[in-house]
Amino acid sequence: MPSSLRQHARRTLDDLEAAGRRRSPAPTAVLDARRVLRGDRTLVDFSSNDYLGLARDPEVAEAARRALEAHGAGGAASRLITGDHPPYAELETELAALKGTEDAVVFGSGYLANLGILPALVDRHDLILADKLNHACLVDGARLSGARMVRFPHADTNALRARLERYRERARHCLLVTDSVFSMDGDLAPLRELAALAAEFDCWLMTDDAHGIGVVGGGAGGTTAAGLDAEAVPLQMGTLSKAVGGYGGYLCTHGEVADLIRTRARSFIYTTALPPATVAGNTAGLRRIRNDPALCARPRALASRLCERLGLAEPASAIVPVVLGADRLALAAQEDLLEAGLLVQAIRPPTVPEGTARLRVTLRAPHTESDVEALAEALAPWVDRASMEAS
Ligand SMILES: *Cc1c(COP(=O)(O)O)cnc(C)c1O
Repeated sequence: MPSSLRQHARRTLDDLEAAGRRRSPAPTAVLDARRVLRGDRTLVDFSSNDYLGLARDPEVAEAARRALEAHGAGGAASRLITGDHPPYAELETELAALKGTEDAVVFGSGYLANLGILPALVDRHDLILADKLNHACLVDGARLSGARMVRFPHADTNALRARLERYRERARHCLLVTDSVFSMDGDLAPLRELAALAAEFDCWLMTDDAHGIGVVGGGAGGTTAAGLDAEAVPLQMGTLSKAVGGYGGYLCTHGEVADLIRTRARSFIYTTALPPATVAGNTAGLRRIRNDPALCARPRALASRLCERLGLAEPASAIVPVVLGADRLALAAQEDLLEAGLLVQAIRPPTVPEGTARLRVTLRAPHTESDVEALAEALAPWVDRASMEAS
């Protein structure tokens, strides 16, 4: 190995370390749907995105096991070669049914979905309007497309209108993209206003429903929660890796658009199909979501209880942020909660804007009432601290 490569790695890591921005994975074993083991500590997991506990659900595991036995362990080729094994059609039908769309296209992950969808639909003649707090993979997909990307301040529909008036006319097509539930804040996009602007300015509205499916809109996600349908939101992408409990990404859309994506999206074409077991597990997870509204309502009910206990505003999703400002404060809060047996992740820039380091709490269906009570007690001093930092 050239010594310059080793030096480059070491220097860059040292710089990140000095800035408190170095990151590394923390080995974590899952004990059950509620708890994980990290080092020698058993912790109640308030930070994963397995909102419904389906990643550990026996029915989902059984469906995956049957597909593993019937179809083997690997996808073996791209879906356009031999990878389009039988469980895929079932999964795409189930997705389209849940979202009320004509068709659905499944990708290897949510990240891959966004890297493929945006460049398949728009290019350098076109415009992308994007909420400033959109997930990183929407930003990456927009960059890959070569379209002009204009960001607007978070959820600010007046600012969006101003940008549409300024830039829309010069572009051929315009894609308006937003998270439906924002991943680090848990708030909902103003989808009704966005849909009205999209109609007025002939834009294609695309939502990233990663944190919506299974949790809001009775489980159907952000579009349903906003009282909208597939006409108003023609491009609904999301992930199967969170509330659905498995792995993969998807786009629910009109039939012809789905066909275009299957023939044009590079992250669909040039990658191997998901393993059959994963695909079948996803279908079982989606069926639970469609048939068990009480399960889907639970994360938000628990979030609501937590916020009430802490004097915070009513949450719109399963995500409750406690914004502490300085990185070191967020890390200290995380350590304090670990001491109490609670795993709550500190989130720092660049994942969130500078000066808004926070605890990101996720409430999940497997949590018990006493889990939430313990969390409320441990969080209370940090919530006080957060309101002091804000004032
Ligand atoms: C997690 C997430 C993704 C990526 O999905 P994966 O399936 O994990 O790749 C995309 N968008 C948002 C908003 C997310 O939170």
